Amino acid sequence: MGATGSVGTQTLDLVYDNPERFRVVGLTAGSNVALVTEQAILTGARVLGIHTPPAGGEAEVRDALAEHARRLGMPDTVEDIHLGPGAGDTVAAYPADIVLNAVTGAVGLTGTLAALEAGTDVALANKESLIVGGPVVLDAAARNGARLIPVDSEHSAIAQALRSGREAEVRRLVVTASGGPFLGMSRAELAEVTPAQALVHPTWNMGTVITTNSASLVNKGLEVIEAHYLFGTDYDDIQVVVHPQSQIHSMVEFVDGSTIAQVSPPDMRLPIAYALGLGDRIPGATTPNDWTQAATWTFEPVDDEAFPALSLAYRAGRAGGTYPAVYNAANEVLVEAFHAGRVRFTEIADGIAAALDAHEELGEVTLESVLAADAAARAHTATRIANRSDAPA
Ligand code: NDP
Ligand code: MG
Repeated sequence: MGATGSVGTQTLDLVYDNPERFRVVGLTAGSNVALVTEQAILTGARVLGIHTPPAGGEAEVRDALAEHARRLGMPDTVEDIHLGPGAGDTVAAYPADIVLNAVTGAVGLTGTLAALEAGTDVALANKESLIVGGPVVLDAAARNGARLIPVDSEHSAIAQALRSGREAEVRRLVVTASGGPFLGMSRAELAEVTPAQALVHPTWNMGTVITTNSASLVNKGLEVIEAHYLFGTDYDDIQVVVHPQSQIHSMVEFVDGSTIAQVSPPDMRLPIAYALGLGDRIPGATTPNDWTQAATWTFEPVDDEAFPALSLAYRAGRAGGTYPAVYNAANEVLVEAFHAGRVRFTEIADGIAAALDAHEELGEVTLESVLAADAAARAHTATRIANRSDAPA
């Protein structure tokens, strides 16, 4: 799911490199018909789902498939085409060994649930599924005997490190953060940064939303909540450390004082391959570190005053229920507004704090209640943005 994005295309690179290991059943995209139809021909997929269909509908998708098939000299194997908002969820429920969810944003939640309800394991890049719907997602996995497998590099690192000890021996999880492009800046300096500057990540090449979230440390906040749900760890036992070189992707500290770190270059192909390998390591997934070259790795604590988004995530996570959904929804609206030049960078965290302050828990955590909390937080944040007096120059 989300085959045309940053994680999606890297996942298909792994598939093309390992044709004997993987067979693609289906692909989904938001609106990029040109690319997803080419991918369908190259992979031999049987089903396609497109969230925002082209003007010409299914006929236009069929034409694009036929054109790619002719140009590439490969057969068109697509039997079913689903179009519209529910299309991705329909595809996710097709029989398969595993669904990799690489959609961006809260909109990815229902696809995760559709796959789990079909009893299919989910390799989760769409961390928002767990942030927004944590208890609902865990319940769906448990009821259907399906697994959630991390794709996010930090959680893949933790899963790999956890192999070296028993659960009862784990003392804490240490999540590394690159610190993003604005590491070392003060709050006053951060008020002046531009969207273009936020999109230049020092170590990772990723989609727009997650790159912006890395700059604000919202991404690290989302990952702390993700780690809480994936590994069942208390927030008190999840620590974040800034490691600008992005070579250590996270660590597990054990009760005897030993810490196991997972090391590889910043390349998503490794965690994607580790997830799809289902415990097997796939040869050549990434280029390993070169230990013949001098290198310096550094570590420092997070500056919570300049980057309040991380402590706000701990606050939302500890409050539990629908609070993490509110944190994410407010952020999605604020990131869009930041890129439209309507709010300053520092207002992202301020707006998240305001949305958390305004939120009242709506009772039991169900799919309906998290979606309602998500919608209310979006409306609250949009109103707050509309009513502000001093938009950035
Ligand atoms: P991108 O923005 O690059 O890709 C997003 C994908 O989702 C595209 O295929 C897009 O389709 C699709 N999409 C968008 N809206 C919808 C929708 N409404 N319904 C169905 N599909 C939709 O994002 P990334 O690949 O960077 O990130 C994907 C997820 O993985 C995010 O949750 C992110 O946090 C997580 N992640 C990403 C990492 C990275 O290195 N990029 C690292 C770790 C986690 P279209 O192209 O047609 O718009
Ligand atoms: Mg990550």
